[in-house]
Amino acid sequence: MEPSLNFTFCDACHEQFTAQKIPLTLVNCGHTFCKACINQNIETVHSSKVCPECNEATPLDQIRPNKKVLKYLQTREVNKTLADQQTLLDQSCRTTKEQTLTSEMLFGSLGMKQ
Ligand SMILES: [Zn+2]
Ligand SMILES: [Zn+2]
Repeated sequence: MEPSLNFTFCDACHEQFTAQKIPLTLVNCGHTFCKACINQNIETVHSSKVCPECNEATPLDQIRPNKKVLKYLQTREVNKTLADQQTLLDQSCRTTKEQTLTSEMLFGSLGMKQ
């Protein structure tokens, strides 16, 4: 895994964030974990979640979706779709080129016969 993409992984369960596994940030310390870890794996003390990384407590109402990571995930989805479309375009271009080549060859062979 590329180190620069570490922010798309949950520090608690080490799984990648997705649209379903949304990244939530503990506002007080800024660490980000997936929703499942916030709900199940991270200890709740006095209506606050205690960060397993730095032990800073963040009240439940101060836990926010990490928009930066969410946006990155969305952008990556779009790019992936664009890349797929580009691949299709490349393939159709190649087919056109092959057809052109074939007709050139055909005309060429016809020219030789004449
Ligand atoms: Zn997690
Ligand atoms: Zn923390």
